[in-house]
Amino acid sequence: MSDFDVIVVGAGNAALAAANSAREQGAERVLVLEKAPEKDRGGNTHYSGGLLRIAYGDGEKLRPLVPDAEDALPGFFADVPTYTEDEMMADLMRVTAGKTDQTLAKILISKSYETIRWMHEYGGIPMEPAVSLSAIRVGNQVKWQKGAIVRALHEGVGLSNSWFAKSQANGIAIRYGVGAAELLQDEDGAVVGVLANTGETLEEITAPAVVLGCGGFEANAQMRAQYLGAPWDHAKVRGSAYNQGDGLRMALDIGALPWGQWSGRHSTPISNEWPDFADRERTDRSNRLSYPYSVMINREGRRFLDEGEDVGMYTYAKYGGRILQETGALAWQIFDQQTVHLLEPRYNTSEPITANSLAELVDQLELDDHAQALRTLEAYNAAVPAPGSNDGFDPTQKDGLRSSGLQPEKSNWATRLDQPPFVAYSATGGITFTFGALKIDEDARVIGTDWRPIRGLFACGEMVGGLFHINYPGGTGLVSGAVFGKIAGASAARGATGRAAG
Ligand SMILES: Cc1cc2nc3c(=O)[nH]c(=O)nc-3n(C[C@H](O)[C@H](O)[C@H](O)COP(=O)(O)OP(=O)(O)OC[C@H]3O[C@@H](n4cnc5c(N)ncnc54)[C@H](O)[C@@H]3O)c2cc1C
Repeated sequence: MSDFDVIVVGAGNAALAAANSAREQGAERVLVLEKAPEKDRGGNTHYSGGLLRIAYGDGEKLRPLVPDAEDALPGFFADVPTYTEDEMMADLMRVTAGKTDQTLAKILISKSYETIRWMHEYGGIPMEPAVSLSAIRVGNQVKWQKGAIVRALHEGVGLSNSWFAKSQANGIAIRYGVGAAELLQDEDGAVVGVLANTGETLEEITAPAVVLGCGGFEANAQMRAQYLGAPWDHAKVRGSAYNQGDGLRMALDIGALPWGQWSGRHSTPISNEWPDFADRERTDRSNRLSYPYSVMINREGRRFLDEGEDVGMYTYAKYGGRILQETGALAWQIFDQQTVHLLEPRYNTSEPITANSLAELVDQLELDDHAQALRTLEAYNAAVPAPGSNDGFDPTQKDGLRSSGLQPEKSNWATRLDQPPFVAYSATGGITFTFGALKIDEDARVIGTDWRPIRGLFACGEMVGGLFHINYPGGTGLVSGAVFGKIAGASAARGATGRAAG
């Protein structure tokens, strides 16, 4: 007899969704292996903003998730814009240049709402409106971006703690500081367990179903260099130091099919002052995402991207990579008093550089060419609408207030930098997670290079390849983790209890 019915590798959102789903679907003996010690548990999920992008349709459908929302936000359910499955698909298609895996995308989107209800109702995960991430206050009004409206209460920390509490209540065994090192197969090739590294011994642990939910290779400099190329080996890591690509390596070793964009990654503009690995207390407060209202320059003192290409939610996951490619992986975001009040609260974790003139400001910045920086800002000011014609400025949506004659142009929110004091924040590119992963089918079974399911092996979360290419719509990672985690857990339980072939 096997040691367990289901072994789940990892203890982030996807893995714990899988473990609890397996219990719900009848698996009696579920084991979670967490490579990190208990104090560092929870993977990237712990560090996340807890934001959840779901196709809820009408704002009223959010009431079961955040029943008290109107206490602090009168009119919330009516104010929230509708977000349909078609709109979510259009967003995913647009930001991935049409390359998202259609089969997986349809599952993700059609199950996004019901799965987040399940997380809330079965998983016991409290939620709240994501005001600081998805809303902009204009006077007394709160304007919401579409789709990513709700987040876990207390963000990723709350989400992770709630999943651990549910796992404990569900009688799921968790072993901390024990990483899966290899997959065990029987003589017919079915996965029947893992070889686990306890730090002292290598232990064989058996089960008829193994779910891999142990993240991507974002924390592994060698794999980043190998698959993403330079300068990704130098990127600061925004999340867990334990996502070293172990699960991918183990699965590829037994013939799993690599899937999705192996040179792709989620990477955001973060403070250049942050350490090489994220700090567990400040979680995701390194982000510097109010750049659409800024002018961004590199060390050579030049602009290098369109800060206003789209609302931040649809550019932030690729602009980290763009900054990383610049000299010294450094950029400066420059604001004036017209826009500085729009900065999201996470900027409070840095002390900005300020000055009463642009010349004094650039003199204080770490730059290779201060004179060029001043020329760039002056050229920018000359190429954007004159003072008084900024009336169309609307921070809540693409406002069409654009520059004219610059290379690159700023397509929206192109206000003049003319209201001192001027303020500058540093930015670099921080890596969040990697896109290249494994091919799974509709039941979250891992597919082999012979295009057949590998019996007994399932995957979820960052280990699912194909959904994200080039870019990513904010708030989709956790929902993908929950959707495919729930499916993987249920499939694993079916396999373990003999109700269907695993
Ligand atoms: C700073 C930051 C902010 C983010 N904000 C958001 C957000 O607001 N909304 C959103 O949707 N997404 C967000 N994301 C992305 C999101 O966090 C991830 O997509 C999601 O958490 C991935 O979940 P997962 O369960 O696949 O992986 P993880 O949560 O990373 O879990 C992986 C687990 O596997 C364990 N592990 C690794 N190797 C082994 C091994 N060999 N054996 C056993 N265990 C192992 C790790 O210790 C960890 O417990 C953010 C990410 C970061 C870093």
